[in-house]
Amino acid sequence: MDEGFFHFKRPANEPVKAYQAESPEWEALRKELDSQAAAPIEIPCVIGGKRIYTEKTMKAVEPHRHSSVLATVHVAGPEELKQAVEAAMAAKAEWEALPWYHRVSVFLTAADLLTGPYRKKMIAACMLNQSKNVYEAEIDVICELADFLRFNAYRLEEIYADQPSNSRGVWNRNEYRPLEGFVAALSPFNFTSISGNLPSAPAMAGNVVVWKPSSSAVLASYYFLEILEEAGLPAGVINFVPSRGAEFGDCVVADPRMSGFHFTGSTEVFNSIWSRVGQNIGSYHSYPRLVGETGGKDFIFAHPTANVDALVSGMMRAAFAYCGQKCSAASRAYIPASLWPEIREKVHAIMPTLHTGDVRDIHAFLNAVIDQKSFAKIKEYLDYAKASDDCEILEGGNADDSVGYFVQPTLILAKKPDFRTMVEEIFGPVLTVYVYEDGKLDETLELCDSSTGYALSGSIYAADRMAIAKLEKALTHSAGNFYINDKPTGAVVDQQPFGGARRSGTNDKAGSRINMLRWLSTRTIKENRVPDTEVLYPHMK
Ligand code: NAD
Repeated sequence: MDEGFFHFKRPANEPVKAYQAESPEWEALRKELDSQAAAPIEIPCVIGGKRIYTEKTMKAVEPHRHSSVLATVHVAGPEELKQAVEAAMAAKAEWEALPWYHRVSVFLTAADLLTGPYRKKMIAACMLNQSKNVYEAEIDVICELADFLRFNAYRLEEIYADQPSNSRGVWNRNEYRPLEGFVAALSPFNFTSISGNLPSAPAMAGNVVVWKPSSSAVLASYYFLEILEEAGLPAGVINFVPSRGAEFGDCVVADPRMSGFHFTGSTEVFNSIWSRVGQNIGSYHSYPRLVGETGGKDFIFAHPTANVDALVSGMMRAAFAYCGQKCSAASRAYIPASLWPEIREKVHAIMPTLHTGDVRDIHAFLNAVIDQKSFAKIKEYLDYAKASDDCEILEGGNADDSVGYFVQPTLILAKKPDFRTMVEEIFGPVLTVYVYEDGKLDETLELCDSSTGYALSGSIYAADRMAIAKLEKALTHSAGNFYINDKPTGAVVDQQPFGGARRSGTNDKAGSRINMLRWLSTRTIKENRVPDTEVLYPHMK
């Protein structure tokens, strides 16, 4: 029976658990870390519900101990990628015909499995394979992922309930159809919540999906797929294909039936996908919806009235938590000369205490960066800075990949505002500071706005209300997520919907109604209860 209106209560954000050293939760988690590290698994492709073990494989490792292999990942080639598209298309009719509340129920069940029986397993997988400390892993793979699932369901119901008005004798209805064809989802390494959300949001809305996880972070995404299966997701609705980006582009993105592309990752990769879609535009059955949240060069801008302790806390946490690998991580700061001596002193006192270490070391502030490629890229920036006369490395600056991909938290003082590390995305624990003369506030605001093409997240610190209003206005288009007297990281689903503009993406705000609308194509139906039978209009008679 379909009869009835089914409502959810507005969900609450999943509470974040604290894992204190020596607490029973931490001890239980330590055992889980040891057991996952001691028993590597095989990760297959999952196509049409079938496990497919290909001959081409890659290793999933612990970045902070790269000799430790967690899994052998079976990589989809062109043949498997094409099968995944066919499997998605084969599952489509039944999935989209299923009443929406049954579809949504699969994802709400998954949220409850994730936050309940699988909490420990998921946190450990995320910590080990993505080198996150326990707090960062809890926030990512548990709280944010569950929040995405629950708030997407809530927003979807809101959309379905949003109906046009009627005039006398006419009944208008909006039917929110899934897209024709399939959706391709392409995940980044840094957040399992994002990785899981990219296929789940379109699937909840009735779409079928071909999902490529990041090659550097497959483990927790695979375990999430298993949770979805246990929650009742039918075979073929989400097809899991670890694969090479270029082959995914050739076999999935170029398929004429691709009707949506859900991406989070670098600006360069999104640009290349957009170009490919543009080149093929005549061949698609529908105009593909392109949703991409991409790179950033996130800023902190301090006004002379800023609270110095709050500012220092924001700078340290936003630049160095998860090794600066959050898309929202602060990587440039504009500091007034009047505050700089005090800030410099405080930062100098704190930075040597922020040590790097294994995820099993609960006191480590930073762990390792994700992989060799990322390590080499960050090290190249550090070497460049060391050799340059246009900057001074004030703290850190060293990197060592002998055991894991460790990079010291680094503070650079730029002598000119367009110094490379002030304007390019590094995606590592490197914060560059530019000290401006207090009298040059307006020029410096202009620099902050125009120095990079990105506009993802940014913070201002000021006590003076007139200054807050001025900075907020001057930086209107500089960030899609803007913070006042708070760090630019840590957006919470449904509280600070996340996404940036300019070269930072299409700003479709993951976990929001805006995002869910992208996976739906509205059919408007007008029914006339008493149809006209006349040909001539009244004024013609
Ligand atoms: P990435 O762009 O290197 O990779 C993203 C995905 O694309 C991966 O699955 C990768 O395998 C795949 N890929 C790589 N090359 C490809 C190609 N030529 N064709 C098709 N697919 C290809 O990004 P990453 O290193 O995983 O993540 C870091 C980036 O993501 C940073 O730029 C960061 O700012 C961005 N990010 C943005 C947000 C946001 O909300 N704006 C959130 C997280 C990460």
